Amino acid sequence: MARPLPGAPAAQALLAEAARRAGRLAAPPGLALVRVGDDPASVAYVRGKARKAAEVGLRSAVHALPEAAPQAELLALLGTLNADPAVHGILVQLPLPPHLDPEPVLGAILPEKDVDGLHPVNIGRLWAGQPGLRPCTPAGVMALLAFYGLPVAGQRAVIVGRSALVGRPLAALLLNANATVTVAHSRTPDLGAVTREAELLIVAAGRAHLITPDMVRPGATVIDVGINRVADAPGQGRLTGDVHPDVAAVAGALTPVPGGVGPMTVAQLLMNTVLAAEAPAGQEGRG
Ligand code: NDP
Repeated sequence: MARPLPGAPAAQALLAEAARRAGRLAAPPGLALVRVGDDPASVAYVRGKARKAAEVGLRSAVHALPEAAPQAELLALLGTLNADPAVHGILVQLPLPPHLDPEPVLGAILPEKDVDGLHPVNIGRLWAGQPGLRPCTPAGVMALLAFYGLPVAGQRAVIVGRSALVGRPLAALLLNANATVTVAHSRTPDLGAVTREAELLIVAAGRAHLITPDMVRPGATVIDVGINRVADAPGQGRLTGDVHPDVAAVAGALTPVPGGVGPMTVAQLLMNTVLAAEAPAGQEGRG
């Protein structure tokens, strides 16, 4: 059976390091959490981030705009936060209401305060192998691999999924860490032939149980980023990953869902805020 790779101890270690480094700074790192509208999932995510921020000694503030807020109001708020020296990190909770265009919004955050790592400047720095703030879920995956001492350099890595949020930045991080990287997606013919090549298989497709045991190389490390809500019975939802549970019989190591990559994302956000507070502009981040 595959070695389980729970996220909680790895996230705890990352949070402890963030707390230790925050404590060494002259003033607590400041995190601005920006939310538009009252989508219940976004409200819960922002609340969770603020609670964890307080636990590691960060000073966070939630800026909630009404659902109908015009783009100019959001951009004006970001301008104020960019100019505030006590704010080291700015996070705009996605998704935004449909009338707001996320591209100019994310682009309006100063790159050195972009703790989500989604500003084009930070994406460019990542692909150029230069320091910068890294997207939280992919960086959290790298931190999870490091925590469990799983090798990356020289490994044949396959990522399933090419989104701007997960698959693409993960490809750059793995490449920077000297893996040999393949990115598969919905137009990849014979996905199983590609995934069976992987010594390190990372799945971020958002398709429940897409990866079955026959698609996995025996002994491979399998990281399941997917979070899918499946209905077992009317009105009852359950979270499951992109990897079929039977893969545990073939893989060498496997993350659970929930409780695998999920906790790493928030921990990495707080670590990014500490890095932003520590670093001169452009020097944040590793990997
Ligand atoms: P997107 O929907 O933006 O991207 C999904 C990617 O998977 C696309 O590139 C798509 O290909 C590819 N894909 C979809 N179906 C298949 C298939 N049948 N075969 C091969 N590739 C396929 O999703 P995200 O990247 O934002 O998220 C992926 C998953 O990760 C989701 O379940 C999400 O909930 C979860 N997630 C978890 C986080 C965490 O903290 N644990 C954080 C962020 C996301 P194409 O480009 O061709 O359409």
